[in-house]
Amino acid sequence: QRRALSRLKDLPAVTTDGLRVALMANIELPSEIDAVLAAGAEGIGLFRTEFLYMNRHEWPNEDEQYAILRDVVCRMQGRPVTIRTLDAGGDKLDIPGTGGPATNPALGLRAVRFQLARPDVMEAQLAAILRAAAHGPVRILVPMISSVDEITQVRTALEKVYRRLKRNKVEVPAKLPPLGIMIEIPGAALSADALACEADFFAIGTNDLTQYTLAIDRGDEAVAHLFNPQHPAVLRLIHFTTGAAMRARIPVSVCGEMAGDPRVSALLIGFGIDQLSMSAASIPRVKQRIRRLAQSEAQSHTRQVMSEHDPHQIEKLIFGQSL
Ligand code: PEP
Ligand code: MG
Repeated sequence: QRRALSRLKDLPAVTTDGLRVALMANIELPSEIDAVLAAGAEGIGLFRTEFLYMNRHEWPNEDEQYAILRDVVCRMQGRPVTIRTLDAGGDKLDIPGTGGPATNPALGLRAVRFQLARPDVMEAQLAAILRAAAHGPVRILVPMISSVDEITQVRTALEKVYRRLKRNKVEVPAKLPPLGIMIEIPGAALSADALACEADFFAIGTNDLTQYTLAIDRGDEAVAHLFNPQHPAVLRLIHFTTGAAMRARIPVSVCGEMAGDPRVSALLIGFGIDQLSMSAASIPRVKQRIRRLAQSEAQSHTRQVMSEHDPHQIEKLIFGQSL
């Protein structure tokens, strides 16, 4: 079985009726790149950058971040790298000022909210990303967007940093990299049609989307049994988001844990999603599943799931006997 999976490495993830699906990797550390390449990932769909800020007393400066990001972009040898800007707060790292014990960190000054409150920190990271983008295809991804206003503010900052780097004759790509957003807050999913006018791409984060939709703390073991990304409410938000992205003709991927479960591949493909990002270790099994699946079959499966309202029936349809 393992040998069969490793033989898949150089084969495309394509359905039996010819739909090409891009399988990308999620990483948290540059040391994961060897595993990413060994798994045959077509790129990095989510590069979490919190490690740059962890276990230290001062903020990392632009040059330091640039050196690390450039190294990752170069090692990916022309494959796309989606770099997510700092997602501090909540279940991520505890940075002073990003939510204390008296507040709810999951709902506090985190991610893009923190970046907009600290333009110096945000601009240093954007500058480092822009410089790394001179070495290969980079996409910039902003976490925890909840309104159109936030993406326009980040874009304004990005354009300002880009102009400054060019003026100072620092090497940057000829064009601004695509600027995309995580859809991981229910309000963002419900505003996906408006957000699609401002964002260059969507990445659906099913971990947080589930947490916020069902009000289940993703780190709390006492409610872990209730954490259900296949809940009909979450699925409706994914459905609405993909529909909005397709109408606006922008790419949409799924990069939460759900994307790495081969039992859910048919459902996601049936929504029209053709980019999935997951831990490198999950890629072979998801690829195997996709290569045995027809897009038409996936679409009717998704229609059937979406016509159900009972979470138990939905689980039966998706997981069948394997549950
Ligand atoms: C998510 O929320 O689904 C996601 C992919 O991001 P993270 O797990 O880093 O919050
Ligand atoms: Mg998230």
